[in-house]
Parts: sequence; C-alpha cells; structure tokens
Amino acid sequence: MKFIGAHVSASGGLENAAIRAAEINATAFALFTKNQRQWRAAPLTDDVINSFKAACQKHNYRPEQILPHDSYLINLGHPVEDALEKSREAFIDEMHRCQQLGLTLLNFHPGSHLKQISEEDCLARIAESINIALDKTEGVTAVIENTAGQGSNLGFRFEHLAAIIDGVEDKSRVGVCIDTCHAFAAGYDLRSAAECEKTFAEFERVVGFNYLRGMHLNDAKSAFASRVDRHNSLGEGNIGHDAFRWIMRDNRFDGIPLILETINPDIWAEEIAWLKAQQDQQAVA
Ligand SMILES: [Zn+2]
Ligand SMILES: [Zn+2]
Repeated sequence: MKFIGAHVSASGGLENAAIRAAEINATAFALFTKNQRQWRAAPLTDDVINSFKAACQKHNYRPEQILPHDSYLINLGHPVEDALEKSREAFIDEMHRCQQLGLTLLNFHPGSHLKQISEEDCLARIAESINIALDKTEGVTAVIENTAGQGSNLGFRFEHLAAIIDGVEDKSRVGVCIDTCHAFAAGYDLRSAAECEKTFAEFERVVGFNYLRGMHLNDAKSAFASRVDRHNSLGEGNIGHDAFRWIMRDNRFDGIPLILETINPDIWAEEIAWLKAQQDQQAVA
C-alpha cells in the first residue's frame, strides 16, 4: 500500500494540515509543527495536541502516513560550538513536539560544514546531534533527508547518509528520506526506468531500503548534477514522468509517506490522482 500526499500548510492550526490533506485526497502528508523560519515556538497545549489528533483520526491518518519536517534554521553539523548547541536544542524541541503529537517520524536536512570543518567532522557532529536527541526523546525516528548539495550542505551522497547512520547508536530510530529532485541535482540519474533501477540499486548497496522512511516526490527545474535545489511539478521538469511511474510500481516504496513538495499546490490533487493511477496499473498488469 502506497501513502501519497503533499507538504501541506498548517496555518491557522496544526489540525488544518490533516484537513487540507484530506481535501486533496492525500493518503499521507507532511507539515511543520511550528514556524519553520523561527527558532522558538510556544509549547504545544493540550488543546492543540487534541485537535490535531482528532483531525488525523477523523481523516484516517496514522503516524506512519505523516512526515513532519523540522525548521530550516537548524544545522546539526554546525562548526561553531554555541551555534551547534542552539541547533541541537531546537532539534530536541522539534522531536519532543512530534512525540507530544503522537507522531513517529521527523524529517530534517543533515547539516552544513560552512567551509569551516571537514566533511567527516561535520558528519560526525550530525550523528552525535542525533544521538543526543534520541536519548532525550522517545518513539520518534530521526529521518535524514538527502540534499542537492547546494553550498556546503552535506547529505548529497548516499555515502554521507550511510556515514551518519553509522555514527548513530540506536539504529532502530534513524532512517532516511530520499528527495528525487535533490538526488537528481546531486548526480543520481532518474530520467528512465533503467536509470531509476541503477540509482536505487546504489541506494540499496550504500544505505539500504531497510532505512527508507519516506520519499519527497519532486521533479527538478535544476539540471542534472547541478547541485542546485529547484523543485518542479511532476513531469514538467528535467526528471520527467517515468521516475514517478517507476516508483509507484515498486513495492519497496510501500508503507512510507510519499510527499509532494512540488511548486504548484493548485495541482496537488491532480498529481496525487495521477500517482495513484500509476499504482493501479501495476495491479492490472
Ligand atoms: Zn525535500
Ligand atoms: Zn528541495
């Protein structure tokens, strides 16, 4: 069973994310549990928690169908001690919010070395940040997202994801989310079924599908191997429809949130319907 949805807005209340997801016939959704451009947020109240849980229940979203995303400000591999500490505290707070909401996943971008420390040092800091957060929370898995490799962002090679996982003590609570636009921009080709087979065989070899906890389904405005992160609507970018059809027909992507972060929310319902239809054709074939 595939869970297919989009990163919906939670403005006006977290419960609105579930309501908006239901409106576009999504069977999964992503959300920010706080303003993603601010460090601090008011603690979650019982009212907020209860209305979120009630909306999820009403619209049939279980925790494994929901992929919250943390704040863009957090850098778990920060080279400077004070700033690293600030990021670690904010990340623990994000994990804690997920725990309070009954959610089991938290998706985040690994971190950036800002050209001040080596890749290895930065990856080790990220792993240690995850260890600290897992130690202080319960029931939430840290889901590392691959990146396009813009600037000094790490996570653009599958080897980076593997190195971080390697440094995490509790392997049962660490996973990865693969963003198709980021992978393509980082030099993993997805332009045909054959290229998809090759890319995900490499993913299996280096990281392993047992760590896959979610996918971001985005076409790319950016060019292949450009290390530039620019999303596009499905089929309208440089990746094209084939990759998304291929993913929908492969059962290794079952049971995890498959999330659109495509650029036109007005067509999310259509994109979700199209994705679902690709899956149905598998059953017929
Ligand atoms: Zn993404
Ligand atoms: Zn992106």
